[in-house]
Amino acid sequence: MNTEIIYDINDENLDRAAEIIKNGGLVAFPTETVYGLGANALDPLAAKKIYSAKNRPSNNPLIIHISDPADAEKYCFTNELYYKLAKRFMPGPLTVILPKKDIVPYAVTGGLETVAVRVPSSKTARSFIERSGVAIAAPSANLSGKPSPTKAQHVILDMYGRIDMIIAGEDSQIGLESTILSLAEAVPKIYRPGKVTYEELKEICPDILISDAVLHMHTGRPESPGMMYQHYAPKAKVTIIDSDDKTRTAFLINKTDCGILCYDEDKELLSMPYSKSLGSKSEPLEQAKLLFARLREFDENDDITQIYAPMPSDKGVGLAVLNRLIRAAGFDVKEL
Ligand code: AMP
Ligand code: MG
Repeated sequence: MNTEIIYDINDENLDRAAEIIKNGGLVAFPTETVYGLGANALDPLAAKKIYSAKNRPSNNPLIIHISDPADAEKYCFTNELYYKLAKRFMPGPLTVILPKKDIVPYAVTGGLETVAVRVPSSKTARSFIERSGVAIAAPSANLSGKPSPTKAQHVILDMYGRIDMIIAGEDSQIGLESTILSLAEAVPKIYRPGKVTYEELKEICPDILISDAVLHMHTGRPESPGMMYQHYAPKAKVTIIDSDDKTRTAFLINKTDCGILCYDEDKELLSMPYSKSLGSKSEPLEQAKLLFARLREFDENDDITQIYAPMPSDKGVGLAVLNRLIRAAGFDVKEL
């Protein structure tokens, strides 16, 4: 397939992108979380194309993207809590799950009776959605299993020749996917942590749970199907080191042929051949922004077969970094 890449983000080009959506095609577009791979959310055939372009299992549901929180009424049954959350967090990196209306095809929800809805804050994304005139179903624009794309170049590497258009816009400012909160059950539950934290959500809904699957490998039927697959993985094996900084440095200092993810504060490790910093140890937002790009950088060097990473904090945005990294590592954690 011929993929057109748009570097110039102007009205005319966004209208052409919207036209592709109206005609049932696929367009990758920037958002503040990660790049999305979009299709008309009301067209089951278009949604199916997303799954084949990504090699994504068809029971892993898609998030639908709207440009105004009130548009959710067309697609799902909202409630008071939805509007409270919308007032505080939308547009932004929060996805909410609600019971779906009939108009949303099962091809988009992976057969579920619920649908996930988000309003991106990226201006490019919202303008593109508005011009399309429908909700846009979009997972991350990477091949299934790989780290999500946070730069246009990542999308080009994974999707060129597989989709109709790539809007090559800005780098993703957040760098990790949205927080997913289900409002479709008795007690609201976080299925995926993101920039909007547990602590912040608790201020709006004091009763809130975090799904066990956020940090553990799932057994049995997952509540959020996407959580069961190995995810975000670079070519090399990733192992998380759970220890104090001194012990981690002592363990890694001789591993000159390994990829090493560390922090700005790890001066000794940073002088090693294949080390890369995730930013400051005390800045989880910086780590979130850099994580996927760093994992993909290791893919450029075929000599690296093993990557070691530090154990992120489980507080605030740290929980989202930990959630992605532990999946990239296939839950391989080495305690020292
Ligand atoms: P991504 O493909 O990276 O955007 O991931 C979308 C995530 O949203 C996956 O983990 C899905 O399992 C989750 N998701 C989407 N819709 C639903 C839903 N109705 N119920 C539970 N999880 C959902
Ligand atoms: Mg994804």
